[in-house]
Amino acid sequence: MTAVDVAEAPAYDIAALRAALGDVPVIDEPPLVKQKSRDFYWYSPVLKPQLKHKFADLIAVPRDEADVVRVAAACARLRVPLTVRGAGTGNYGQAVPLSGGLVVDMIGLDRIKHAEPGLVRVEAGKRMIELDRETRRVGPGPGWEQRMHPSTKRTATIGGFVAGGSGGVGSVTYGGMCEPGNILGARLVTCEDTPRVIELSGTDVGKVNRTYSTTGIMTEVTMPMAPAWPWRDTLVAFDGVMPAMGFGQALATSDGIVKKLATVIAWPIPASFKHLDVPKGRDLAVCMIASPSMAAFRELVREHGGELLCDEDAVAAEEDPERVPLYEYTWNHTTLQLLKVDKGITYLQSLFPVGRNLEMAEHMVAHFGDEVLMHAEFIRFDGKPTNSALQIVRYTDEARLNEIIDYHEAHDVWIANPHVYTLEGGSRHKRVVQDQQLAFKAEVDPYGLLNPGKMSSYVPVRT
Ligand code: FAD
Repeated sequence: MTAVDVAEAPAYDIAALRAALGDVPVIDEPPLVKQKSRDFYWYSPVLKPQLKHKFADLIAVPRDEADVVRVAAACARLRVPLTVRGAGTGNYGQAVPLSGGLVVDMIGLDRIKHAEPGLVRVEAGKRMIELDRETRRVGPGPGWEQRMHPSTKRTATIGGFVAGGSGGVGSVTYGGMCEPGNILGARLVTCEDTPRVIELSGTDVGKVNRTYSTTGIMTEVTMPMAPAWPWRDTLVAFDGVMPAMGFGQALATSDGIVKKLATVIAWPIPASFKHLDVPKGRDLAVCMIASPSMAAFRELVREHGGELLCDEDAVAAEEDPERVPLYEYTWNHTTLQLLKVDKGITYLQSLFPVGRNLEMAEHMVAHFGDEVLMHAEFIRFDGKPTNSALQIVRYTDEARLNEIIDYHEAHDVWIANPHVYTLEGGSRHKRVVQDQQLAFKAEVDPYGLLNPGKMSSYVPVRT
């Protein structure tokens, strides 16, 4: 799939759009328009040449839901493509407008609408770090925090996470975003001549989860919350990646130890972690552990032959702009840290088979050697521990990358391919776009204007 496969955009009139937007704030300075048309697709040497010339014509910055309705109506009536943007930290060009038109920057919709113990209803443009900051004050007790967040928590928005993310810090306990109960509700605006506001709850939230804004402009989401623990950032060193993996598995299944992160990163990846000073040749486990569980955690480290290198206040690190919380070395930050010093690498996104994750990890480490370095996140999947892995790949060319992907898939390691920008291209063996999402798109986006080209199997029902 290349950018030229995307259907030619219909002609549209940006001057007419500007007039129709009335007093909705817009950005038209070319450098800013370019900047707000990009995300982190450049991690992929395959996507980089495909997306680097794709820009919007104009950015709208709605202040509230009424502005969003006005924007959607103007785009529908004038047939202008519309792509929604949170903070633009997606990795596969999810927020890149393939057909130009309008990018809608949601960052102005940042109010908490309702908060109670265990639940929050919040506008979609709220940054996740700010959300936790405010819900930690929801009493009684130490307050509440998001069950999970991407490692981009200090930048990303909650709407962008629901529409573009998959899981992250917290998934070792709560599973992925798509597990039932991890998103409670969504409120969205349709892209029709007279836009409607729709509320989704229960299994219907699957209609907007990870659909890259192709199925509506979310203005609010309702999320379940977890107790806000006093988290400790810990680093544990091992001699060998498989001892570290064994430790990660033991931690993931130690239900009495309250945890939020269990990551394994093979040497020499940590050599690029400038501020951490990891001893040469040691493989790492990066873990976030609730303070009351630290004694049991230390015991587990000892049993597995690990060496505890660091035990620090995680919330203080997250709140200090001068410091780097340890989760910013995990999930796709691991790739970023290495890319800072080595532009010749890229990455995979894998799901290891439940029950055989350690066996297959050992196999892949032995099979690929230094060409594919292990970086594994322990998660729960359907209630059982396994690995979501973002292995580091020494990049040669696209053909070799595809061979590596095929080898993993032939061994039951499912790849969510981060080197394609369509929803459908993410997997060769699993249907990623569900029937309910396709059917819902016909209801909410009859002209096919919402992030065109991303849900490539959709055929507009009206012209
Ligand atoms: P954007 O990138 O702006 O948007 C993401 C998608 O959501 C786009 O398709 C956009 O059109 C759509 N969208 C945004 N807002 C709305 C809305 N209000 N209504 C409808 N659609 C909307 N992802 C993970 O899942 N877990 C990780 O741990 C993780 N780590 C990362 C680490 C790094 C260093 C980087 C660069 C990326 C990482 N990501 C991760 C990807 C990304 O950061 C997250 O998915 C993040 O939640 C995206 O939020 P955002 O606000 O930046 O969304």
